[in-house]
Amino acid sequence: MSMSEVYFTDAKDSMVEKLEALLEKVGVGDLKEVTALKMHMGERNNKTFVKPLYVQKIVAVVKKHGGDPFVTDTTTIYKAGRYTAMDYYRTAFAHGFLPSYLGCPVIIADGLKDDGVQVTEKIEIAKSIYDSDAMLVISHATGHGASSFGGAIKNVAMGCVTKKTKKYQHEVTQPVRDINLCNQCDKCREACKHDAISEDHEIIRENCIGCGSCIAVCETGALKSAEGMSPDLQKRLSEVAYVVLTNLPYHKFIFVNFLIDITPFCDCAEFAPEYMCSDIGVLASKDIVAVDMATIDMIGKHLFEGDPTVQVREAHRLGLGELEYEICRV
Ligand code: SF4
Ligand code: SF4
Repeated sequence: MSMSEVYFTDAKDSMVEKLEALLEKVGVGDLKEVTALKMHMGERNNKTFVKPLYVQKIVAVVKKHGGDPFVTDTTTIYKAGRYTAMDYYRTAFAHGFLPSYLGCPVIIADGLKDDGVQVTEKIEIAKSIYDSDAMLVISHATGHGASSFGGAIKNVAMGCVTKKTKKYQHEVTQPVRDINLCNQCDKCREACKHDAISEDHEIIRENCIGCGSCIAVCETGALKSAEGMSPDLQKRLSEVAYVVLTNLPYHKFIFVNFLIDITPFCDCAEFAPEYMCSDIGVLASKDIVAVDMATIDMIGKHLFEGDPTVQVREAHRLGLGELEYEICRV
C-alpha cells in the first residue's frame, strides 16, 4: 500500500513564520502561474475562519516562488452574507480580506451571475477556478452538523462549484416530515427563506436547499434529517471533489489544512459556542485524501458527530489519494 507525505507545523511554533518552510516542503514552487487560493472567508459574523494574517503569508510565499495568486471562494445557496458576489465582497472585506493587505486580488469565482463551466450533467466548476493554472486549497478543519467533518474534500466539493452543484449535494440533506407529529404551528414556514414549505407544511423539493433551518425550529420533532443523511452527503462530497479535481484543465494542487479554532460547525455558522479541542497546527500535502485523513486522526475521530471518515474513504475508493500517510515535521 502506498503512503503519502503530509507536512506538519505544530501550533506551539510560530505558524505564520513556519508557513514558508511548510509550503516549500510541499512543493509550492510547482505553482508557477495563476494560482487560485481557494478558501472560505467566513460567513458574516463568523469568527473562526482562517485569518488574513495567514493568507497574506501564503500569498507572499506563492509570489516569491513565481506564482500569481488570487484569493477566491464561491457564493452560497442559502441567503445570508455571501449569497451574491456583492454580498461576499462586503463580508470578505469586513473580515479583513482586502487586496491591499493580502497582496493579491480577491475574486469571487462564480462571478456576479453564477458563472460556471459544466463538466458533467450535474456538476459545474466555478469559472475563475476553472480558468486558473493551479490551485492551493486552504481549509479550516471543523466538525459539521451534516457531513460530520469539513476539510479539504468538502472545501473543493462544496466550494469550487456553482449554486446548481451545491444544490445537487444538498439534495440529500432535505428534511423529512412526520405528519403525525406536526401541530401546524407554522414555525418552519417562518424560518424558511426559500419558499420551500407549502401552506400545509409539505416540503417543496425543487425549492428546498437542505439548509436545516426548519428542523432547528420544529419543536415537535416532526421535521428531521433523512435516515443515512450524513454518509450520503459525505459520499456526494467525495463524488463532486473527484469530478472537480479530475476535470480541471490543470493538475497542480496543494492542500493546506488549518487545525486551529476547531469548532463543531463549519465557517458558515455565524457563531460557534465551543471548540472541539486545542489548536494543533497546520498540515500540507499534495494528496487531498491523506491530508484529510491526517486531520481527522490528529483531532480524534471520537470527537466528531457520526463517522467523519466516510468522505475520506470514498475519495480514496474513487482514486483521489491514499489513506496511509507519513507525517513529516517542519
Ligand atoms: S415547525 Fe414542525 S410542527 Fe410546526 S408546522 Fe412545521 S413541521 Fe409542523
Ligand atoms: S431545509 Fe427547510 S428551511 Fe431549508 S430550504 Fe429546505 S424547507 Fe426551507
